[in-house]
Amino acid sequence: MSALKRILVTGGAGFLGSHLCERLVKEGHDVICLDNFFTSQKRNVSPLLECRNFELIRHDIVQPIWLEVDQIYNLACPAAPGHYQYNPIKTTKTSVLGAINVLGMAKRCRARVLQASTSEVYGDPEVHPQQESYRGSVNPIGPRACYDEGKRVAESLCADYHRMHGMDVRIVRIFNTYGPRMHPFDGRVVSNFIRQALLGEDITIFGEGHQTRSFCYRDDLVEGMIRMMNGPAEFQGPVNIGNPGEFTIKELAELVLEITESRSNIVHQPLPQDDPTRRRPDIRLAKQRLGWEPKVPLRDGLQKTIGWFRTIDFEQYRPPTPNF
Ligand code: NAD
Ligand code: UDP
Repeated sequence: MSALKRILVTGGAGFLGSHLCERLVKEGHDVICLDNFFTSQKRNVSPLLECRNFELIRHDIVQPIWLEVDQIYNLACPAAPGHYQYNPIKTTKTSVLGAINVLGMAKRCRARVLQASTSEVYGDPEVHPQQESYRGSVNPIGPRACYDEGKRVAESLCADYHRMHGMDVRIVRIFNTYGPRMHPFDGRVVSNFIRQALLGEDITIFGEGHQTRSFCYRDDLVEGMIRMMNGPAEFQGPVNIGNPGEFTIKELAELVLEITESRSNIVHQPLPQDDPTRRRPDIRLAKQRLGWEPKVPLRDGLQKTIGWFRTIDFEQYRPPTPNF
């Protein structure tokens, strides 16, 4: 059997999806990118349109679709808080109906599915660092619930399709990932701080900035996803994919200011409700089962990301929602 596969990437025009598509196209696979462009722009994948082994479909994953493929990476879902809270009901539908549609399609054509889950399934964690066995502390009625609970249901659907139908599913829990091609107006902390520093605007720290996050460079993340998709047959996960280097948001702001040599001021704004206090992946499982660990330290990854932000024209980017 050929090692070359027909691969569907839902959310394939987004920040992570477009890099994943690029890698898979380069490896020679037949890649279908499906996206409704809610939080992305066609320019993320337009260079790929010239490749014979790449196809682009505008489609909303909330609606069923039938395609014949061998593997599906299910990434379709707004990921930044300002995006997923813009229309929270739609966010839940995207995660839940999207997973049902993807898993139904995969069952019919016997495709393997990798579900892009998130560290948000751990909510505001009482256990630190977070291991896959930790069940999380999510507020089911809070403003982040549409995303957190939607992703949790998507995980349980994967587990049930596996148990009921013997389907080959894989779950990765992605921790905060950054890199070139992040939407400059997505409101996430890395893109906000870099944009603000480059434009000489105030750097907006929410709360005191003592909350922590662990930032993974996008190339490390994409490598982890591909390894999980092609990893051991009996290993469904979930597996944490992230960089265990943990930083306070204040430290991140200072690092961005230092690298950009910006003279922006730091200002403080109210901490959003249910904002997790700390987050850091325990990645022992990924190391053991996938031989994966991140290679790019935050400073190096930020330098590359800032280098890319310097090349773009912010005017060319439409903020997907007013919440940034
Ligand atoms: P992104 O917003 O850049 O990408 C998401 C893509 O999904 C976009 O292209 C968007 O247009 C598309 N999409 C949204 N709703 C859709 C729908 N109903 N139908 C079809 N397409 C739809 O975000 P990203 O950072 O690239 O995230 C990709 C995936 O990884 C998401 O599932 C996200 O939950 C997950 N994830 C990302 C991070 C991170 O830090 N980047 C962390 C945890 C999980
Ligand atoms: N944050 C901040 N200033 C910003 C954007 C975000 O201080 O301009 C904080 C936010 O409150 C959170 C952290 O940075 O504590 C990470 O936020 P992001 O939206 O990137 O991701 P998530 O909260 O989903 O991890």
